[in-house]
Amino acid sequence: MGRRPRSSVGSDGVSVPFLDLAAQSAEIAEEVLPVWQRLFESAGFIGGSEIGAFEQEYAEYIGVEHVIGVSNGTDALELAYRAVGVGPGDEVIMPANTFIATAEAVSRIGAVPVFVDVDVEHLLIDPDAVEAAITERTRVIAPVHLFGQTAPVELILPIAEKHGLVVVEDAAQSQGASSSAGRAGALARVAATSFYPGKNLGAAGDAGAVMTNDADIAAFIRNVAAHGSSVKYVHDQIGMNARLDAIQAPVLRAKLARLEGWNAARRAAADRYAELLADIEGVRLPSVRPGNTDVWHLYVVRVEDRERVMVELSAAGVGSGIHYPTPVHLTEAYAGLGYRRGQFPVTEAAADRILSLPMFPHLTYAQQESVAEALHSAVASTS
Ligand SMILES: *Cc1c(COP(=O)(O)O)cnc(C)c1O
Repeated sequence: MGRRPRSSVGSDGVSVPFLDLAAQSAEIAEEVLPVWQRLFESAGFIGGSEIGAFEQEYAEYIGVEHVIGVSNGTDALELAYRAVGVGPGDEVIMPANTFIATAEAVSRIGAVPVFVDVDVEHLLIDPDAVEAAITERTRVIAPVHLFGQTAPVELILPIAEKHGLVVVEDAAQSQGASSSAGRAGALARVAATSFYPGKNLGAAGDAGAVMTNDADIAAFIRNVAAHGSSVKYVHDQIGMNARLDAIQAPVLRAKLARLEGWNAARRAAADRYAELLADIEGVRLPSVRPGNTDVWHLYVVRVEDRERVMVELSAAGVGSGIHYPTPVHLTEAYAGLGYRRGQFPVTEAAADRILSLPMFPHLTYAQQESVAEALHSAVASTS
């Protein structure tokens, strides 16, 4: 029997939550609530200076010329794909190990997601597999900076160049992450990100953004995201309604001002996990790709008998998650594409073993000790 978790058990019976977003809200409340009151009283819900200010601050932070705030990450991806010319029947190559939105945005255009496997160490898109998947219909390669670490874009850009393709980054899980080549979101022609509340930079609801250095792409996206219109009631093309809500901007500005500190706290927590979990047999720890600065959106270990380990963690009051239990090519949604189990062995093996442990900026050492103790006894009792 392990020792009892040291931290107090909350009203929900969980001593270590998987994620503590309320702590983030508490930190920014004093800054955000007066701005919300002003927006509410002036009814400035659509557009406005807060959005422009956030876009500029985020552009400076990432190191790109243009940021366009939009409604969510999935719309951001669709806008990015459309902006580089993806149309019906075109193919977009992406890792099978991703959140379904990377593919959904392609399918909504009438284009076709083409999945490839990932590398066994970091579970990021495998450049060799990308090259093998290129056909005459391929238009885009979409590396995903999964779990908070930058995908090998530096190896994918030369492949894209050789075949006349465009690279679109899915930077939804990587706000602040970088590789030796620069920040995630600034490494290719265009990038999309999500400010879903649980992301490293999260809104108070759905939000997202597109990043680019290309002024034409930026103008196209602003136009499409506002009903294909740059002048009121003049519609140049069939667009969508994908604007960023004004009330999200002050939240994003306040959190952006704290993001470096929060990401550093995540890195410190990851270092502590590496120490606390080092001697637990049967737990494979994540590692950082050389040259990368990881922002640890998720801390993903791999264990055998994962379902039972999760049940035991839960019984010990420790929250955990699976990102993601079904690889996209095996979802019911994509059954029509005809993929079979066995096609992407690394992704499929990982999906059965991955386990996301509590990871957030306000995670304490005592909480991490509780996680380590609970994981230790769970793994010992399953082997
Ligand atoms: C969250 C996420 C998205 C989609 O973002 P939404 O804002 O939820 O639409 C896309 N790709 C990845 C990898 C994500 O994690």
